[in-house]
Amino acid sequence: MVEQVVIIGTGPAGWTAAIYSARANLKPLIIEGAQPGGQLTTTTSVENFPGFPEGLDGAQLMLQMRTQAERFGARILSGEVASVDFKRQPFRLQLDDGKELETGAVIIATGASAQYMGLASEQKLLGRGVSGCATCDGALYRGKRVAVVGGGDTAMEDALFLTRFAAQVTVIHRRDEFRASQIMAERVKQNPKIKIAWNTVVIEVLDVVREEVTALRLKNVKTGALTELPVAGVFIAIGHQPNTKAFVGQVNMNEKGYILAENSRTNVPGVFAAGDVQDHVYRQAVTAAGSGCMAAIEAERYLKH
Ligand code: NDP
Repeated sequence: MVEQVVIIGTGPAGWTAAIYSARANLKPLIIEGAQPGGQLTTTTSVENFPGFPEGLDGAQLMLQMRTQAERFGARILSGEVASVDFKRQPFRLQLDDGKELETGAVIIATGASAQYMGLASEQKLLGRGVSGCATCDGALYRGKRVAVVGGGDTAMEDALFLTRFAAQVTVIHRRDEFRASQIMAERVKQNPKIKIAWNTVVIEVLDVVREEVTALRLKNVKTGALTELPVAGVFIAIGHQPNTKAFVGQVNMNEKGYILAENSRTNVPGVFAAGDVQDHVYRQAVTAAGSGCMAAIEAERYLKH
């Protein structure tokens, strides 16, 4: 059976594309991916999605979008896309379990994932004190000292969230000024539980005791001074990488691997991209949802002609 449209990814872009294409009677098949619901499931309260003045839980928002898509007949398949062939029609997708799909149109909405510092000690201790998700793991550090690396809104949000559990939070930033929005930066600076290490980078994650994080070796980039900060956990919040490995060589991308799309259209007719996978600038739930809508409308037009 050849599908009309397959949507890859289940963040706000994927679910919005699913809602629109299901309502257009395209019977979309949605590939759920490794992190169903995407990045919003790792955040706490979403306060800036229009229509929810009190804010709502990110995972709850994703569940509601999923329910809405299913209501109009969207079908959902678990699994990840391992490789694709966009060189001929119908397009072919191979999933990680070996299953093959054929489809007339594809909407790529695979989003982006947290980036790491690239230290060997960081990778070794991932899941044993090193985390890319404060909302997932923060509660494990009740009464302990933790650190957050980064100076953007994610780092601010993580640091504030962690003050609910941790005894003390140190934000480690490589410059002397935050990149984050002023309102978030101010909240961090005013919080008595948060300390800030300016002009500082982590050069090693230390695990003196039983392969669990015990401290960070820090370097002041201005003075070169080395110090040790005792912490039980470190949360990495230094940005994201697009999830486009399966599409390399099949659609045009920029040097960072973000898919190049204009009004959701990629260089391959019939292949569309929506959400963070093609947007490294705005990266908001509402912009992702908007671009998912555009992709579904474009896919419908493409299939009609
Ligand atoms: P950003 O790219 O905005 O910030 C990344 C931060 O990490 C920067 O401060 C950067 O430093 C630092 N950094 C990058 N690489 C390294 C490295 N190798 N070592 C040390 N530090 C590093 O990413 P975010 O994830 O914070 O935010 C992404 C987008 O999502 C932004 O547009 C943000 O506004 C938005 N967002 C909005 C939220 C909200 O509105 N509630 C919540 C979370 C995110 P430098 O500043 O020196 O470049």
